[in-house]
Amino acid sequence: MVAEVEGEFYEVGSSRKVAAKLSLLAFEELELCVAGERRAYQKARYIVEPPLGSLPRVVHFKEDDGDCRFETSDTAGFRELERNLSSGKLWSGVAWLEGHWKGTVASVVLLAFFCFGFFQWGLPALAKKVAHDMPQSWRVSMTDQSIASMKRFDYIAESDLSSEEQLRVQDIFSDALAMAGLQDSEYDYELRLFAGKAIGANAFAFPSGLVVATDEFVQLCETDEQIKAVFLHELAHVEEQHGIRGLVQRGGVFIVFSILVGDASSVISLAEGIPAMVMNSQYSQRFEMESDTFAAELLQESGIGAEAMEEILILLHKDVPDLPVATFLSTHPSLQERVDNLREIQAGE
Ligand SMILES: [Zn+2]
Repeated sequence: MVAEVEGEFYEVGSSRKVAAKLSLLAFEELELCVAGERRAYQKARYIVEPPLGSLPRVVHFKEDDGDCRFETSDTAGFRELERNLSSGKLWSGVAWLEGHWKGTVASVVLLAFFCFGFFQWGLPALAKKVAHDMPQSWRVSMTDQSIASMKRFDYIAESDLSSEEQLRVQDIFSDALAMAGLQDSEYDYELRLFAGKAIGANAFAFPSGLVVATDEFVQLCETDEQIKAVFLHELAHVEEQHGIRGLVQRGGVFIVFSILVGDASSVISLAEGIPAMVMNSQYSQRFEMESDTFAAELLQESGIGAEAMEEILILLHKDVPDLPVATFLSTHPSLQERVDNLREIQAGE
């Protein structure tokens, strides 16, 4: 520690400078050594001027007949000494900012950009990668766990559909798989029908490839094409692994890390979040649009037409049957956006 700083001394009322040394004693007492003479000043008898850029540092000392002053260009040495003064702690912080504010602002801006970029692009890209690279056995565990908890909480129960009806819907599912060319996919595609209980008319996809549709959903659909449209939409959620990606994006860095280090248990515990997400269609709007587009394009190609998707979307969301579609859509902006997207595909845009 530097306890002594060299500089110049100006006697009260004098502009003649004399070489002097300033040192720090106990209890923040400062000692001036001028021409072999030592003068000690207690804390109350001196004032340290705040630092100003690289200008010399100045200390004023009170004498009976006025102020004398000490100046030093050894700003670094003075800063060392000042560190032990209570006033200095504050000033050194200010001085640091003064000397570095451009750098500080730049780092804050950079950090903000980095954070924004990470959440905007980095995390979704990581989520996509880990969701696709994950072993299928993990996806199966997550799916089984989700179904088990949905049954436990009475969201779903055994289907009440007749076996003929069930077979008919299974055939539609097989058609949808064939239309999408996914018969030999890495996912274990399978359709299971359940009574909807608390969740009513609904269909959703799980990470393993399991698609669940409720009896109420089957009954709500007016045509087989509408059922097929929804199945195609769900297949896209699986192919794109929207479920795990959505969870990982929300779980953030911690989850990505767990997956990267192969911590299966904490990843599979993500399964707790799946039922809530798939049932309340809490997928991001982007994922919904992606799946709509996938389904609509296949429906267009096959000659069924993307209208089937649009019709069932509206049926699924519309609780009040007599409401005109336009009025209904105007109160559901995100649905309006999805319908607009489907109409563009129908128009061949
Ligand atoms: Zn969806």
